Amino acid sequence: MEEIDEERQGVPLEDAEVIVTGGRGIGSGDNFAILNDMAGLLNGAVGASRGAVDEGWMPPGAQIGQTGKIVAPNVYFAVGVSGASQHLAGISNAKCVVAINKDNEANIFKRARFGIVGDYKKAVPALINALKESA
Ligand SMILES: Cc1cc2nc3c(=O)[nH]c(=O)nc-3n(C[C@H](O)[C@H](O)[C@H](O)COP(=O)(O)OP(=O)(O)OC[C@H]3O[C@@H](n4cnc5c(N)ncnc54)[C@H](O)[C@@H]3O)c2cc1C
Repeated sequence: MEEIDEERQGVPLEDAEVIVTGGRGIGSGDNFAILNDMAGLLNGAVGASRGAVDEGWMPPGAQIGQTGKIVAPNVYFAVGVSGASQHLAGISNAKCVVAINKDNEANIFKRARFGIVGDYKKAVPALINALKESA
């Protein structure tokens, strides 16, 4: 297992107006780098589902949900997150949830205002490019 910094730099999750959360669908700790890039462009923070924390890809302090942090951002990106009830318990006060998941039946889409059905490895770079173009 790779070493993880418990204290990440940047906006604390509890104060973040934008959160980009990765789940087990991200596939590895290294792959969280692209979520960090996206969050950086939005002055946001990076969170994790318990799936990602259990894999050792993110520190427990980044976990969002019933046994993690309760957050209330304006925009919450859930990337490769299935949307288990325990995860949704942590984002009930999120204003706008945007889900990116390759399974169109993933539960997260029931909570999402906007959804992208597809591989995050295509969707997130496209979002990053769009953000850079609009900056
Ligand atoms: C008592 C208890 C407390 C819990 N507390 C928490 C908690 O606080 N927080 C929490 O998150 N969970 C919690 N859980 C665990 C919860 O039940 C789920 O197991 C967990 O949230 C699943 O994490 P996940 O969505 O990342 O993983 P998964 O359920 O494995 O979902 C991964 C998702 O990624 C998608 N995916 C895969 N590859 C890609 C790709 N390339 N592009 C796009 N999408 C992709 C899949 O379609 C899938 O929907 C708790 C469970 C219990 C029993």
